Amino acid sequence: MGSRRRSQSGLVTTNKLWTYPRFIQSILQIGLIIMSEKYDVVVIGAGPAGYVAAIRCAQLGLSTACIDEWTDDHGKPSLGGTCLNVGCIPSKALLDSSEHFHRVSHEFQNHGIQIKDASMDIKKMLARKDKIVATLTQGIQGLFKHNGVINLHGHARVIGKETIEITDGKQKRTAQAASIVLATGSRPIELPIVPFDGTRIVDSSGALEFQRIPKRLGVIGAGVIGLELGSVWQRLGSQVVILEALTTFLPAVDRQIATDAERLFRQQGLDIRLGANVTGAQQSGKSVSVSYSDNGGDHQLKVDRLVVAVGRRPYTEALFDDRVGIELDDRGYIKVDDECRTSVPGVYAIGDVVRGPMLAHKGSEEGLCVADLIAGHSAHVNYEVIPWVIYTDPEIAWIGPTEQQLKRQGIPYRAGMFPFAATGRALAIDNTAGRVKMLAHEQTDQVLSVHILGSQASELIAEVVVAMEFSASAEDIARTVHAHPTLSEAVHEAALSVHKRAIHRAN
Ligand code: FAD
Ligand code: AMP
Repeated sequence: MGSRRRSQSGLVTTNKLWTYPRFIQSILQIGLIIMSEKYDVVVIGAGPAGYVAAIRCAQLGLSTACIDEWTDDHGKPSLGGTCLNVGCIPSKALLDSSEHFHRVSHEFQNHGIQIKDASMDIKKMLARKDKIVATLTQGIQGLFKHNGVINLHGHARVIGKETIEITDGKQKRTAQAASIVLATGSRPIELPIVPFDGTRIVDSSGALEFQRIPKRLGVIGAGVIGLELGSVWQRLGSQVVILEALTTFLPAVDRQIATDAERLFRQQGLDIRLGANVTGAQQSGKSVSVSYSDNGGDHQLKVDRLVVAVGRRPYTEALFDDRVGIELDDRGYIKVDDECRTSVPGVYAIGDVVRGPMLAHKGSEEGLCVADLIAGHSAHVNYEVIPWVIYTDPEIAWIGPTEQQLKRQGIPYRAGMFPFAATGRALAIDNTAGRVKMLAHEQTDQVLSVHILGSQASELIAEVVVAMEFSASAEDIARTVHAHPTLSEAVHEAALSVHKRAIHRAN
């Protein structure tokens, strides 16, 4: 508290107002509103979409402020949005800790390592996660400082085409900006029939904070988040039941890959119940009784903790005055064109709050794009080449349409396939599950999509993203040298296999 900051417009603003008598407070407040700070760009939201946009705008020489309202558990402002605070980063920290625990308990003996009675210190695991989050969120503060981005804390509301009102506690101030970027992200969807209580029935953020390993854990939703968080606690010893309304497992994933993954996850002990429509949840004592129905009838499931992971919705609460004219689509996303322009000239929107996959890297890419546009350069986002990753074990990563989608669209293709079990590196690291599947256009040989189930799929997909960005053919990848022994040789062999010339397996 009490920090002073000189705005780019040269005005001095202060949040020490509340040390003055009340009538002086009012006068100072009115004064502050009149002496509104002026910027070239104001970005609302400091998640991976907003903070990247802000940094890039500043790099391009634009005076830039980024406003964010996020506070941590101690009430301190924390940058980085969902991704850094309660999303990508903390979930990956826990996935890594739980994977180590699982390997110690189940796989180290394959290497001759004998460890008896391995145990997990949950508090230490959570503290490690919190430290990683703090390092990264504070890192963004440093990046803002380094690049000259003015960081303002509070809730922002667009009240005019170039005017933003910022409320922090009882204080109100305004800022003016020629361009405004809305990057307010998303929030977990709450099922009205299963309201969160913050302790036993929680959203994804709550599932990152369990202080003890739940004996029985229920997860509603077998999407990316449900599978990742279910995996964390299952590896640590919870009996995990995942209830999924759809009858198809991971419908967005290539069928061959999804079927293999489903089999492997079930073998690991994840009890995935498809076609299970949750109809309610009742607290009884220390447990939660979940009602659901499937084609076998009505059922009850007793769990100690229940995670509701049924998707996320765009977050636009109190974000703008209706008179400004910013339009939403029928699903509540801010309407934008292909270059993230909203219905109001000079106002852009990026990240989870607009159409497209709710992925951090998609939002960041849009952030880079709008910064260039605002600075007068040309830019675009190539939405055709956005990779997806599910950080289960094995990981699932893909880019481009599934084989089923290509068939439906009548696009002729050739398929190449290569199992990790046929690579030396996968055997050496004792992680042979999965495969690489490459689909290339039958006539042009251009790579249309790649689907990977396997260890480090999240890293392996990067090669393919670059290749596809450059419109590579399967032949291009087949003729590219891949280091030996690496898992990337499976990508190489899958490319060779498109033309039936894989070396290390029968074609
Ligand atoms: P957000 O990260 O949600 O940031 C928006 C920011 O805006 C927040 O800080 C919010 O406080 C602020 N804000 C909102 N309204 C206002 C306002 N009016 N005034 C001021 N500030 C405001 N994606 C991946 O790509 N990879 C992953 O591995 C991954 N894992 C995930 C795991 C979990 C458990 C969850 C929940 C999500 C995960 N995601 C992952 C999704 C990813 O977190 C989001 O796609 C990403 O955070 C979206 O970025 P954003 O900048 O659009 O919004
Ligand atoms: P995602 O959108 O990837 O986060 O996945 C959320 C998943 O939750 C989807 O697969 C939905 O089908 C599933 N889901 C949504 N509502 C319910 C419900 N009431 N019961 C079970 N699963 C649900």
